[in-house]
Amino acid sequence: MELTDLATIQAVLKRHGFRFSKSLGQNFLTDPSVCPRMAAACAMDGTKGVLEIGPGFGVLTKELSARAGQVVAVELDGSLMPVLAETLTDCWNVEIVPGDVLKLDLAALLKEKFGGAKAAVCANLPYYITSPVIMRFLEERLPVSSLTVMVQKEAARRLCAPPGTRACGAVSAAVSYYTNPQILFEVPRTSFYPRPNVDSAVIRLDVLPEPSVQVKSERAFFALVRAAFGKRRKTVSNSVSTGLGLEKSQVLSALQRAEIPPNARAEQLTMSQLAEFSNRLEEIKHE
Ligand code: SAM
Repeated sequence: MELTDLATIQAVLKRHGFRFSKSLGQNFLTDPSVCPRMAAACAMDGTKGVLEIGPGFGVLTKELSARAGQVVAVELDGSLMPVLAETLTDCWNVEIVPGDVLKLDLAALLKEKFGGAKAAVCANLPYYITSPVIMRFLEERLPVSSLTVMVQKEAARRLCAPPGTRACGAVSAAVSYYTNPQILFEVPRTSFYPRPNVDSAVIRLDVLPEPSVQVKSERAFFALVRAAFGKRRKTVSNSVSTGLGLEKSQVLSALQRAEIPPNARAEQLTMSQLAEFSNRLEEIKHE
């Protein structure tokens, strides 16, 4: 069965009485060139186990099945179960797990399905949960080696923006803390059915064995990052003192010790400067 063929998709979905849900971000890929590229990028390091999020009609799942040893795919929409049973009938190494990726006990699922081995995550992510899904894997330090995911083009730029550049925000800084991010390729809106209003891009986040910078306290570091980027037009001395409820003099001393100009803005700070700023501020708070 050719899963990117629109007539095939429509016939199968009609047979099962399936209706697309906009609120679940159901835009299925119909461009035959996209899934093989995504699956190849996901499995390029010889990954044996892949966790897919939102298999939908199974088009990416099928490509992953051909390249990985084992594929576990989490799908929230129960009405897709009979569809997937039909479209993935030949894929013996695929298991569909019904559930919400934001609510499932992922640590237990990964352990049960892949033992102690690190899995690779691959997904054409529903847009409404892009950042929460990515951050869940990183913050909970789930045993995954990489995330190869399709997201809205703007989100791709933001997520992969290195600290010290204009596009960087709090989420970019968190992504750069845990991973080595890169944009792989863009995918136009014409590659989907139904067609979304925006273009997409595939990104790959390679999870680092250790965070990219050393911080005294992760909690304090991420609180500072959120405060600094929360009011990005302000100088960090203002946004951080207001956001964290600290004396401005304390924040200015931390900036001075970190050798950062007092009028710097969040988007001008590199990852090492953000870490240094946070570490010096922790020092000052405990003096
Ligand atoms: N992988 C398919 C493709 O590329 O054509 C479908 C991708 S579609 C953009 C997103 C999929 O994620 C849909 O199948 C949707 O039902 C599923 N989904 C939405 N929210 C989810 C959640 N919280 N947990 C798991 N799956 C979810």
